[in-house]
Amino acid sequence: MDVLRLDLLHPVISGNKWFKLKYYLQEAVNTGKKILVTFGGAYSNHIVAAAAAAKEQGLQSAGIIRGEKGVHPSPTLMDAMGFGMELYYTTRENYKTKQIPSLLLESHDPGDLYFIPEGGYGEKGAAGAEDILDLVELSDYSHIMAAAGTGTMLAGLIRGSLDHQQVTGIPVLKNNFSLEQEIEKLLPPEKKHRFTLLYDYHFGGYAKYTRGQTVFMNEWYQRTGIPSDFVYTAKLFFAVQDLVEKKYFPGGSRLLVIHSGGLQGNRSLDKGTLIF
Ligand SMILES: *Cc1c(COP(=O)(O)O)cnc(C)c1O
Repeated sequence: MDVLRLDLLHPVISGNKWFKLKYYLQEAVNTGKKILVTFGGAYSNHIVAAAAAAKEQGLQSAGIIRGEKGVHPSPTLMDAMGFGMELYYTTRENYKTKQIPSLLLESHDPGDLYFIPEGGYGEKGAAGAEDILDLVELSDYSHIMAAAGTGTMLAGLIRGSLDHQQVTGIPVLKNNFSLEQEIEKLLPPEKKHRFTLLYDYHFGGYAKYTRGQTVFMNEWYQRTGIPSDFVYTAKLFFAVQDLVEKKYFPGGSRLLVIHSGGLQGNRSLDKGTLIF
């Protein structure tokens, strides 16, 4: 088993988000847009990555943030503001329907805005995620494994995978039964059946965790030296270990496991929970 350490790309703006944003940014620049707008929660890896990527491209950015403004903004939102992102807080109801806050529309020329879907879901996000596989000697592997939120990264990995490879996704949301369809929408017909989703490793659901999970994260770190985040990659690594123990993979399998980053999100855990 090899772990592709996308977490090492950058301490805060790490992982798959750079890849998923790449072609959106390119289009924003090519069409002369000035302000990147996207959606996320207070600890969203996507929000902070979008803020950083916009700044790097010389674009402005605005984040539509789920929930009321708190007394103390999260470290993630502080980072996003540090990259120059304007934040627009919105109620959970309005967030769900992806309403654009009127204040945002009033403060900018709407023609300057470039919208990126939540989590970078979409054709361009998947195309960017496909490029992740350029980093490895792909034909060495029989299986590719990754965590799935919106499934955009997984779709990219499936698109880039070779005929003999099986791609396995670990959904981090509970009861997210539309995920399979969402992923299939981003795949060409011949690849629609080349992946498996294993739904039993969500540890309670999105951004939920148990004490068992944080204990696992520390043990995994002690054993491998690899830090994980509690929302995505810890669930993935736990799943991989569990599946290996259960002999899910045939003998001789070569696993490529994608560390998709996201360590900045661990800042929402109580101090002392993790040893790294
Ligand atoms: C966003 C994220 C994912 C999920 O990516 P999707 O393309 O939404 O499935 C996985 N891992 C980490 C660390 C992330 O930040």
